[in-house]
Order: sequence, then C-alpha cells, then structure tokens
Amino acid sequence: MDAELERTLRLAVAHRQFSDSLDAEFSPDPPALQLPYLGQSRIPDISLLQLRQHVPAASSSDTEEVLRIRQHIQQMDATTLARLEARLQPEEIMREYLTLPQLQQATVLEDEPPDVHHAWSYPPLDFEMVLERDPFNRNPAAWREIDTNGMEMNSRNSADFRREPTQPGENYLFGSVTQMPFVPGGMESAFSEIDRFALPSQEMLEEGREYLKNFDKLPQCPPEFADNEEFFFNASESAFAKLPFINGLNDLLSEKELDLLKKWQAVQPVTGANKVADERLWKDMRSLLELAGYGEIYSELFADDELDGLDGSHSALRISSATDLKNIKSWAVKVDVGIPIPDFAAKMPNMAHKYPFELDIFQKQAVLHLENHDSVFVAAHTSAGKTVVAEYAIALSLRAKTRCVYTSPIKALSNQKYRDFKSTFHDVGLLTGDVQIEPNSHCLVMTTEILRSMLYRGSEIVRDLDWVIFDEVHYVNDAERGVVWEEILIMLPAQVGIVMLSATVPNAMEFADWIGRIKQRKIYVISTTKRPVPLEHHLFVCVGSKTIDKDLVIVSTRGEMLTKNHSEAVGIQKEYEKKNNIKMGLSLSERLPPKQDKTVWLAFMDFVQQKELMPVIAFVFSRNRCDQLGDMLSSLDLTSQSEKHTIVTFFRKATSRLNESDRKLPQILRLEYYLERGVGVHHSGILPIMKEAVEMLFQQGLVKILLATETFAMGVNMPARSVVFDSIRKHDGTEFRDLHPGEYIQMSGRAGRRGLDKTGTVYILCKMARIPDSSKLNHMILGVPMKLHSQFRLTYGMILQLLRIGTISIMDVMKRSFSEHSNASRNPEQEEQLAQLIGQANQMVELECAVCKADIGNYCRTFDNCRALRKKLNTVLLSPDNRLLAPGRVVTTNADIHRPPSAGIIVSAPSRTPQSERYFRVLEFSGLEVGSVVADVRRLACGEIHQVMNATVKAETERIMSEAEAAKTSNKAKKSFQEVIEKVASQISGLKKLEPLSPNKDFKLTDMQFIEQWEEMLALESTLNYFDCRKCPDFYKHVEQEKHRLDIVDQIAQLRHLLSNDSLRFLPEYQQRLDVLHRLQYVLPDLSITVRGRVACEISTTEHDLLMAECVFHNIFTDRQPAEIVALLSGLVFQGKVDAEIVLPPGLSDGVEAMRSVALEIGQAQREAGMKEAVSYVADAMNFGLAEVVWQWCLGMPFVEITGLTEVQEGIIVRTMTRLDEVCRDVKAAAKVTGNSRLMSKMEEAQKALKRDIAFVGSLYTTD
Ligand SMILES: [Zn+2]
Repeated sequence: MDAELERTLRLAVAHRQFSDSLDAEFSPDPPALQLPYLGQSRIPDISLLQLRQHVPAASSSDTEEVLRIRQHIQQMDATTLARLEARLQPEEIMREYLTLPQLQQATVLEDEPPDVHHAWSYPPLDFEMVLERDPFNRNPAAWREIDTNGMEMNSRNSADFRREPTQPGENYLFGSVTQMPFVPGGMESAFSEIDRFALPSQEMLEEGREYLKNFDKLPQCPPEFADNEEFFFNASESAFAKLPFINGLNDLLSEKELDLLKKWQAVQPVTGANKVADERLWKDMRSLLELAGYGEIYSELFADDELDGLDGSHSALRISSATDLKNIKSWAVKVDVGIPIPDFAAKMPNMAHKYPFELDIFQKQAVLHLENHDSVFVAAHTSAGKTVVAEYAIALSLRAKTRCVYTSPIKALSNQKYRDFKSTFHDVGLLTGDVQIEPNSHCLVMTTEILRSMLYRGSEIVRDLDWVIFDEVHYVNDAERGVVWEEILIMLPAQVGIVMLSATVPNAMEFADWIGRIKQRKIYVISTTKRPVPLEHHLFVCVGSKTIDKDLVIVSTRGEMLTKNHSEAVGIQKEYEKKNNIKMGLSLSERLPPKQDKTVWLAFMDFVQQKELMPVIAFVFSRNRCDQLGDMLSSLDLTSQSEKHTIVTFFRKATSRLNESDRKLPQILRLEYYLERGVGVHHSGILPIMKEAVEMLFQQGLVKILLATETFAMGVNMPARSVVFDSIRKHDGTEFRDLHPGEYIQMSGRAGRRGLDKTGTVYILCKMARIPDSSKLNHMILGVPMKLHSQFRLTYGMILQLLRIGTISIMDVMKRSFSEHSNASRNPEQEEQLAQLIGQANQMVELECAVCKADIGNYCRTFDNCRALRKKLNTVLLSPDNRLLAPGRVVTTNADIHRPPSAGIIVSAPSRTPQSERYFRVLEFSGLEVGSVVADVRRLACGEIHQVMNATVKAETERIMSEAEAAKTSNKAKKSFQEVIEKVASQISGLKKLEPLSPNKDFKLTDMQFIEQWEEMLALESTLNYFDCRKCPDFYKHVEQEKHRLDIVDQIAQLRHLLSNDSLRFLPEYQQRLDVLHRLQYVLPDLSITVRGRVACEISTTEHDLLMAECVFHNIFTDRQPAEIVALLSGLVFQGKVDAEIVLPPGLSDGVEAMRSVALEIGQAQREAGMKEAVSYVADAMNFGLAEVVWQWCLGMPFVEITGLTEVQEGIIVRTMTRLDEVCRDVKAAAKVTGNSRLMSKMEEAQKALKRDIAFVGSLYTTD
C-alpha cells in the first residue's frame, strides 16, 4: 500500500479512537459524534495550552455538543491537560475541535511556514466524511463515510451553480420536483454538505489543468520577494486567519499551484509600513491569476471585501475571532435623494438605456447603484417614475446577456407590463399561469407564484438570473399571498441583484435591513415622497342644487390642511340639515336612495365638465355600485362624434376575436353602450378582455369617466386629470371601515398626468352635505401609510418542498422570515451577553463544602418552587378584605433563600381597588433582640407576605406609620419610633404557640381545589427541612453562593433558548403540521417524503394542496367524466359568494360527499396534531358555488347560457376557469407521479373542454 495513503488511513482510525477516549473522559453518556476526516490538510503542532487560548467565543450556532467540548477544554486543569497531552497527539485534539459545526466545512490551512510542501503531499481520497444532521433540529448527529468515486454534480444531487445544466425541454424552464434549487444566497452553509457529494468530474479537472499548462512559466513568487523564504516570513500570522476556502479548488489545482496560491493569499493588504508593498503584491497576484485564467477565482476570493469580512460559508479556520459580518449593525443604506448629481452625465457616459428626458435625482441615484450591481429598495409614489428603475435593470441584463425577471403581484398587471417592456426592449417574454410567450427571452415578466416555483424546482432560468424586479413590493402585506414574496426573497441565489419598487412606506429601512441580513448584502434605500404633479384635495359638498353645492379645497398642494374651508363645509351641512328638518345628522355610511344618488352624481359631472376636469377616475368600493353608476351616468354624452367612431371601431376589433354569440353577451353590449358615451366600468366582475379594452381606451383619453374599484389603483400607471371618491368608507371583507391612509394615497395618486396637468385634483364627494370629521380627513389624507408587515405563514406545500430538497431546513426559512427579523437582528447582542455569562460561569469557584455539596442545588430549586407556589396562593388568599388581616396581625415576610423569614405586624390593610392588587403596610423586623431592635414599615403585595400567624399584638398602628415616616428626617422622631417598635418587638417575642393560620379553618375558604394546592405546598415546604445542606453551619452563605451560580446557569439556558430554533414563533405550528403530514403518510419518521409527498409537491396552484393530493390518492377523480372532475375541482378554487342555494348537477353530489369526507379526515388529523381549527375547517373552505356552471361549460354550453345559470359575474367565472386550467395541469402532473395514466389522459381532456371561447381568449396586451 502506498505509504502516504496508509498514513492517512491510520490517522482516520486514530481520530475515532480519540473521539471515544474523549467521550469516556468527559461525558457520562458518550454522544454519537465521530471525527471528520479532513482531507488534504495539515494540522499545526500546537499544544493543548495554546489550543485552550484559541477556543472561540460562543456563538448561536453552537450546539450542546460544542458547548460541552468547549467547556471541557476550558475547564481542564493542568494535571488533566498534561495527562491528556501525554496520551494524545495535539493534532488529534485539534481535529476534535474541528467537529464544531461552523468549522466543519472549513479547510485547515497551514499556520507555520517551513514544512508546507510536505503538508500537501497526501493523495486525494475517493471517500469523504460527511456530517449527518438530526433532520429535525439540524444538530450534528454522526459522521458518515461517502464513496465519492465517480460522483458528479447534476441537478439531482447538487445546488451548485457549476452543476451540469438541465437539457432543454420540460424541466428546463419550470424546473421539476426532482431537481434541487440553486443555492439561495445567505444559505450557502446549508448546501456545502451536498456539494461534498459532488466532486468535479474528470473532464472538469482536465479542463482546469489545461488552463494551467503554462503555469510553470509564470513567476513563482511575487517580485518583492527574492525567494520563498523571504516571502513566508513576511506573511503576517493573522493573515492566515482570514483565508477563504473555495469548494473544489483543491481538486482543480495541482499541489504546487495550490501552494503558490496560498502563499499569495497569506499576504493581505495590511496597514502599516508594508502597506504599499503589500498592495502592489496584491495587484500582482490578481494579474497573475488572471493570466492563468483564474480571474474568477480572484473575484470569488475577494468578492466580500467590501463588507469588511467574509461570508460564513466560505469561512476558513478562524480560531479566535468571531465573524466580522456579525458586527454589521444595519444592512440598509439610506441614499440621500436631496443632493443633485451634477456630474451624472459624466459619470454615466454609456448608459445601458437612454431616456428621452432628464432623470430625477432619485432615478439617477438608482441608476448609479444598479450599474454597481447593488440591490435597491425604491419607495415612491406611483406617478413618480419608478418604472425607470425597472427599465434600467432590464437594460443592464440585456446588455450583459444575462436574465432579468420582472414580477408583479397580479396577472393582469403582468400582461400590461409585458406590452410596455416589449415595446421598449423587444427581447421580452411572458410567463403566467396560462400564457407562455417567448420564454427564452432575456427579460421575463412573470407572476410571483411562477418565480417561487422556479426557484424551488431549480429552473435553469435561475442559473443566469442577474436581476429580479419586485413591483408593488408592499404587496408583502397581503394576508393570503404575502408569504410568496418572503419565500422568493429567501430562496434567491446570492448573485441576483434585487430591485424592489414600493409605494411609500414608513419602515423601508427595516424591510431593507431584513433583506440585507438574509442575503448578506447591502440594500440601498432610495425613498422619495415627492410627486412630479402635486395633489390638491377637495371636498365637493353636493346636494344637487347650484346654490348650495360648493367646491372647497381641504388640503393644499403644499400639504396644508385648510381648516377654515372645513368649517365652511360644516356650516353648509348645518344649514342644510336645519332647512330640511334633519335632526339626527346624516351618517356617512348610510346609502342614499338611488334617485338622490343620481342627482348628486349628475350635479358633480356637470361641475366636472364645466371645470374641464376630465378624464376622471371615480373610485367606488363595490362592483354592483360601479354597474349602477354606469347605468346612471350613461345618460350623459361625454364624447365627440369622431371619438365615438374611434371607440366603436376599437371595440368592434377587440370583440372580433370572440365568437358570434359571445359578442352578444349582455355585459359586452352594455359596456359598448357606456364606452361610446365616454363612461368606463372596471372591476373584477368584468370579463378580462373587456377590462383590457376599457384600460386601452382610457389610456387613449377616450374614457372620460372611469368607474373603478380599488384594484385599478394598483398596476400600470394610468393617471387621470382628477380622481373622485364616491365614498371614503369601504367593506374590507370583514367590516365597513374608513379608508387607511395608504389606500387613500394609492388611489388619489392616480390624479395628475405628468406633463399634462399642473396639479392633480382629488374630490371627496360629500353627498347630501355629509361632511367627514376634520380629524378623520387629516388622518386619511396626511396620515402615515401602512408599514410593511410580515404575513409569513407555514403551508403544507412549503414544508414538503423543503423536506424534498432536504438541505434547507424549515428552521432556516423561518429564521429568515421578516417576522423573525427583529429577533434575529438582536442575536449578536444576545450572543455577546451569552459569552459573558459563560465566562462568568467558567470563572466561578465551585462550592467546596462537604456538607452542602450533595443536595444544595436541588434545595435551591425546591425552595424556588415553594416560594412561587406560596406567592400564587397568598395572592388569592389575602386579596379579599378579611378581619383576620386587620392592623396588629402578626405575619412573616422576606422569605429569601439566604436568610430566615422576618417577623412583622400589619399596620394598615387598605382594601383593594378595582384597578390594582391589594397592598399592606407591614412593620417588618430585621432584629428582635432587646436593645437592638431594627424595624421599618414596608409596602407589600399579598404575594410578598409569607405566613399569616395566629396572633395579634396591641399596637398604635397609626402612630407607627407616621413616626416611621418622620424618623427618616428627624432624630427626635427616630427615638420615639424606636421606643414604639421595642414595645411591639417585646410583645412578639413573648408570644407562645405561634402558628400560621389555615385557609379553611381560619379564613373559611371552601374552594377544594385551593385547599388541595395549599396542602401540596405545605408538604413541599416541609421537605425543605430534610435536605442535608440545612445542617451546614454556613448554610445561608453557601446557599446564596449556589443561588447565584444557578441564576447564571438559568440565564445561559434562557439565552440559548432565545438563540436556538426552539424560540422560533412558528416552531409549534411546524411541529403540528409535520405531525399531520406524518399521520397522513406524506412524510416518514426520518423526514424523507413519500410518494404522497411528491404528489403534493406538484400542486402549487391552490391553497388546498394537501386536500387535492388526498383526493388523488382516494381515487375520487379517476372514474369520473372529465367535466365532472373539473366541476369537483372548482370547489377548491372558486372564491366568491353565492347567495342562492347551491344546486349540484346530477352525479356530482356523491363526489362532493367523497371530497368532504377526505377533508374531514384532514381536519381530524389536524385536530389530533393539536391544531386549533375545527374538524370541519378544511371541508368548509371548499366552495361548490360554481360547480354546476363549470360542469355545463365543460359539456359545451355557450357562455351566454352559462351566465343565466348563476348570479356570479362574468369576469369572476372566467377567472375561476383560468385557475381551473392550472389546477388541471397540477392534477395531471400528480397523476404522472403516481403512474395513473387514466387520470392523466382524463385531465388532458378536461383541459381541452375548459379551454375554449371567451374563457380563454388571448389578452389584448399580448396578442395583436
Ligand atoms: Zn456548606
């Protein structure tokens, strides 16, 4: 056998023996921790004593195991050390030390120069030691030997970007549930183990060697140094501590090459005399590396220089210094948008995208940062021009031929943005649930759900991903879908630049800090509240009479509230009410009768026409009201003849893609009639294609008044001259409430067209002179918009995806959620505190008392339990007024562990007030001996009194109180007070048969439960007398010492808890959900997922992923007709209210019953797992309100007839069908995993039946 190989193997055996001996030495129950084989590394010869000095500070990633080892090393006395040292080689101790998880992926680099060549002479091995972790808490469990011979990186085994690309085809674009994601930024350490499995292939190695063919011709040592020796002695020792580790580099370079690289690395630009020389050396090294084709390595090595530290995942062995990254207090950097950039043009001679107008300062700042590949968070009003920032990121990525993803929260917005970007950049594709257009484009517009799925499934798009733009990022506040944003941000790989565009939010810095922390990169916050077109807010007081109606400015363009005008409006209201004999005043939420409503609106429109305020957007907070208003206002005629012609031509062209009968849908005919007159209606009940037609006509200025719901305020910038609020109250799904400032700001921001209007005018309609309070208006118009909140929650789908991937634990994800941010950002402080406490604990001298030692710790714990119990019970017992507690009653107090209780008497016992608990004044004695009586009056809560005794003394309690007070300042009073307390003391000393009162006999308490607890407490207290430590003559001294020690131990435990995963807010829910998945056999006890789990992973388009997977497994669908299957699936998708009784088509009711029973089983499993939702929760969430409609549609009924079957509006029907198509695709994929080919072909048929006519007509934005 090769001598070196033999030596290596011998070492490996020695490690294990050492491990065992160490365990035997230190631990009563040896853990299953073995030692790693460290590959091609050499361990410096340092003594144990030196090692002890190098033990690093405690860190949050320390496991019990690590802490144990560390503590043992620190606590070893000199004799033990010497003994160990004699028996063991120091390098083996070092190896044990290297099992610390945060260092286990680090390569040990030599610390002492002379013998470097020998150190690297081990041949590579074809096995590796891989650390196995406890799948639940990720703690290290054991080391395993992995045969790495012939292992290669591909999408199934590696998250590394160097893995073999997926072949173009199905999995290329969307990835697959059999693929690994690419390693998310900030989570590299979780993946490093996997990468150990995946070594570069032989070809890759050969390729690498090709690069180095001419390496010998390169200078072997930097010019400053005559030879190696000098070079080495100049390398500062501390420099070794910062050496980064590159995965796979060892395999790529020959020993000699590595050697050279390491020498270079060892010299860092340090301050001081060598600085200049070092910097030159640094530069030379860079050019040398580049010459050798290793430029990339160089940048990889020093990419994090800017952060003044190195990423934990690339950590080399740093023995004594904590990671610098931890010291970063905030990752968010505020960019000052107040300072102009006069030399912008000079700075940016070759902009990736040219704009025909001068950019605003905030836009210029953003462009400069994007050029730097910095991530930015841009918060500005909708009209401010955030699109410029998005466009610039796209342009950068087109220039670099990388990929850029633009994500929007809603599909409709994706379509609009696609059209906009396409007209600017051409190389643009679109991916939504139902459309794929040019998916190979460099810029892809997609919904957030698609991006999330691509990230989890390791889509090849992610490999080249350079920028991700999150538009409307404040959508993270959405209760249902906000979690998707968080998941994406957590999963994004490190190289991706992040561009976030948001409405103005008050906590942009906090949010950016969170992203910076999880991605380990700075986030530049560019925030402006400036509006290019200022807004003016008006009240339009309107009763439909020219003499009364009045237009009043309430907030000026400078943002000042004009209270005078508000008073005037209130005056009008009062007068109007008086005149019309309205006594109660008018409620704002009360609806007007249709006739009055129409009068008001027509009066307002009259005013609008006169003042030339059109186009105007009217925000109306209900779909039905939008339609009603459309009817009312279509009596107006707001368009010219030529406009009418353009409108009709456009409309006919748009509807020409529909079939004959669909063109005659009532909704379409009605809209055509409205639009011709310049009135548009826009809400979710309108057919998607009609909504688009309305938007397009609006953009051309042909819609004069647009009646829209709130959704219109989000999305592509479609401004109007003015905006009017039909009401300032809306129903938010649970209740009627006033608009939040953020909502008002978003909607009113639609007023004012850049370049066209000097100001944007906003009207609040005060119908029938009903004027909102000025404070309400002030809050709504000038208030602070909503903060960004985390809506993070756990879903079965998320848990299964992560378990499938295996390397990212759900804890890793939870820890990185925005909701844990405030806790996680406190970790460094807590770690410091912990380290201090551990230091204190280590320095503490152990109690050396033969009497106490055995049970004093136990005594302290028992004592604490007793006191806690007594405090709890006394609070109940002594709170109510009771004659036994009258002044003069003898009590005991101050029952501290390190002194006996004191005697005292109650001097005043006021009754308890309803607001606060009861307090007594007690004269408390700290010494009772005659001549040296010491006492003072204290205020004590019920819980602070220890025992109430069966005796009273006669005392002038009022005098005691007043003299105790006076004694503090006057010597005379002091003397007289002393006399009084001496008298009381002698009375107490003279008492015989002093016993505590009993709650039932004396206090006449009858609550059996209380009496039982009281008895238990007395029993526990009596055990305190039997502890051996009580016999110690120095008992009170020793017990105080022990208590102090225990306090520190407790604090350490508490901090560890806070720093550990156990304190994660979502942990209990995770455990419950995991339990459900166990019960339903989606996950095995070892946390690997079953076929069922894989099936559920395929389902991403509905919240009911688990339910749907269960339905597939209960074979509810296979034997049914495609139309029936889709009708049943609609129960999982449809969200809407149907007032009429739900009529189920024949043959469907048994299917619905079957689904219900499956849902109830899930509900049952959830209950059993401890979740609080009712058993029927899952079943009740299904909604079969559209089942019949869907069923008939799939059987071929024309849409015109479909609308007759239901009260649900056309737009919502179509949206449900589009979603159903996606769900069918999921079911098909699920059927494929289970090998159910019958179901697969049925789902294909179902999709065919669904996708026809108006329900799937192409978008006007994406097709011509
Ligand atoms: Zn003692």
